[in-house]
Amino acid sequence: MNSIKYLLLRRTTQIGILFLYFAANAYGWKILAGTFGTSIIFETIPLADPYTALQVLATGFVLGTDVLIGALIITFFYFIVGGRAFCSWVCPINMVTDLANWLRRKLHLDKEEVNYRFLKRSARYWIMVLGLIVSALVGVAAFEIFSPITIMQRGIVFGFGMGGAVVLAIFLFDLFGVKNGWCGHLCPLGAAYSIIGSKSLIRVKHNHVNCTNCMDCKVVCPESQVLPMINKESIFVTSGECTNCGRCVDVCKDDALEFSIRKLI
Ligand code: SF4
Ligand code: SF4
Repeated sequence: MNSIKYLLLRRTTQIGILFLYFAANAYGWKILAGTFGTSIIFETIPLADPYTALQVLATGFVLGTDVLIGALIITFFYFIVGGRAFCSWVCPINMVTDLANWLRRKLHLDKEEVNYRFLKRSARYWIMVLGLIVSALVGVAAFEIFSPITIMQRGIVFGFGMGGAVVLAIFLFDLFGVKNGWCGHLCPLGAAYSIIGSKSLIRVKHNHVNCTNCMDCKVVCPESQVLPMINKESIFVTSGECTNCGRCVDVCKDDALEFSIRKLI
């Protein structure tokens, strides 16, 4: 049956995490403090974004033990629960791009979509590598300076300034420009999590016996190329580009999709 279970769970998680960052600044709460780059839970457990850590390494700086441990914790977590679960369950930009995608469908803009053949989904991997090269050349973590994720988080915690324009630009690009333009084609952090979570255990599984080939899942999926098995085979979604958002599970009226544990061997 059609539901919004995973959508509600994801929004609760995303807004809850943002609120904890906000509360750390506004009320001095110690539950979760820092940024999406580096954070700390209860002033004890460090967390660090692995791509940020790699950029810092590329600059030639030695990583602090807390950043190294934090990056290992996050890498291990998404290695288990990926593919890009960070994207759909944590990242605040996802709420912006989801809204743009939803509006595209409501306004029937997809029908008039220009075929952006020049912009491949693989571009994000090249941008990810470029971010490391530029970090090494200029001596600072390059993507962190422009990251809309950091900009949006800072905006919510400290108030939006010019950074609001960056978030608006991504919204308009995804709405009137390329479908799933930022997250599906350009974001290097999403690319890094695609790699980290490519072998993750928690995955969507397709049951082709139940499938009626309505293709509702492909309409809502932000990475529809990960669903080639629809109505063909009863197998797991194996691509790391799947965000584990559960939208396909929510919209499937035939119970042909569900989250399950993948066996690696
Ligand atoms: S692709 Fe990038 S901006 Fe989009 S949800 Fe993932 S990390 Fe956030
Ligand atoms: S396959 Fe399902 S869980 Fe994966 S990105 Fe698409 S809609 Fe989300």
